[in-house]
Amino acid sequence: MALNKPKIVILGAGYGGLMTVTRLTKFVGPNDADITLVNKHNYHYETTWMHEASAGTLHHDRCRYQIKDVINQSRVNFVQDTVKAIKIDEKKVVLANGELKYDYVVIGLGAVPETFGIKGLKEYAFPIANINTSRLLREHIELQFATYNTEAEKRADRLTIVVGGAGFTGIEFLGELAARVPELCKEYDIDRSLVRIVCVEAAPTVLPGFDPELVDYAVHYLEENGVEFKIGTAVQECTPEGVRVGKKDEEPEQIKSQTVVWAAGVRGHPIVEEAGFENMRGRVKVNPDLRAPGHDNVFILGDSSLFMNEDTERPYPPTAQIAMQQGITVAKNLGRLIKGGDLEEFKPDIKGTVASLGEHNAVGVVYGRKLKGTPASFMKKVIDNRSLFLIGGLGLTLKKGKFKFF
Ligand code: FAD
Ligand code: NAD
Repeated sequence: MALNKPKIVILGAGYGGLMTVTRLTKFVGPNDADITLVNKHNYHYETTWMHEASAGTLHHDRCRYQIKDVINQSRVNFVQDTVKAIKIDEKKVVLANGELKYDYVVIGLGAVPETFGIKGLKEYAFPIANINTSRLLREHIELQFATYNTEAEKRADRLTIVVGGAGFTGIEFLGELAARVPELCKEYDIDRSLVRIVCVEAAPTVLPGFDPELVDYAVHYLEENGVEFKIGTAVQECTPEGVRVGKKDEEPEQIKSQTVVWAAGVRGHPIVEEAGFENMRGRVKVNPDLRAPGHDNVFILGDSSLFMNEDTERPYPPTAQIAMQQGITVAKNLGRLIKGGDLEEFKPDIKGTVASLGEHNAVGVVYGRKLKGTPASFMKKVIDNRSLFLIGGLGLTLKKGKFKFF
């Protein structure tokens, strides 16, 4: 048994953290390193399914699984705790209930919603971020419907849902709402025509940068299902009564709503900023080997990292697809740091992007091919199942996968 084995600490059991840890046990042997994984909860949740849990179209328990079920417990020490700070100079992580010393640390704490300092959003809007926020949003929407017919005054703001941001998260959530609202109307004896779903997008188009034909398809489908779009219109303030929105140089408009959902982007985890790394909106521009510049024992991956696309000279958008691929490179590079060998440069292999529009519709570009409708929806489920397979193998895929293809 080797003495003084290097200590590797992985922070976060999201897509990046779990891919790292499941591959790391293949690249380093039991005598090469001590491996510790820290996560706030004892479960991993599928961030990429949170629009479904938030709308109530998929139960949150379907979107999570126990971490111990996918890690090699004889090799990985799992610590359920909350990371409070990373002290880079002291090579230690401060947890809510103690601290951990490390030789190498992998930071995969994900993202938090970006509110751009807009007044009232943190206090009054609902983010789509994790199991807790999703469960709350689902319950809140249902409570508005349940309350509506119990009050003497029929309040339209209870039946008005505003979604800020028509990026992929906003659009996927609207797709779920389009399916969920008719169910809620039926359950609570409410006429569908009384319900307003309003999407407010600051950019001149929905899904900025995405294929225009697929954008048209998505907008048309959502409009047909009762979604109103306010394009080129920014959310300016959120209050307990609703939101103020406006177009440039025009009088702002107040929309009364008890449910304002904030889906207008993310920033890296605040702990990464507080640790003192140079960052852009909480994301650290990592070296090609995924280490933080100037810190040879610190890897950062997933939504807290920023990786440049050399072709476009812009950062890759933060996605699970990239976080998972980065996990493999981080695991390999940790193996090489410990056992010897040149570090690998991370090369993203972007297979495409698919956005769901409810359970049976979607739009996407996969391997350069445009897809819409049933084929796109089929592909989306294949992608969801693939990510389960890569982390937890066939057993997890059969347990948690999506197989209702049509
Ligand atoms: P995460 O997977 O978010 O994991 C972070 C982990 O860190 C979590 O387990 C969390 O509990 C833990 N953690 C956080 N703070 C602490 C703390 N202080 N202490 C301890 N543990 C902590 N991307 C795609 O590629 N395809 C998609 O279809 C797609 N769909 C999406 C749909 C929605 C609704 C959203 C919101 C995002 C979607 N994304 C998608 C983006 C994708 O989810 C993220 O890019 C991805 O989750 C990033 O992975 P990560 O490993 O960095 O972080
Ligand atoms: P995003 O940054 O992709 O989109 C946010 C949208 O909000 C933008 O269109 C922006 O113009 C708009 N916005 C910003 N400020 C606003 C304001 N004040 N008022 C109105 N609109 C405003 O963020 P996202 O949709 O949360 O996605 C986050 C990341 O997760 C992205 O990298 C995305 O690619 C990824 N994601 C991928 C998928 C998928 O592949 N199916 C699904 C969800 C998220």
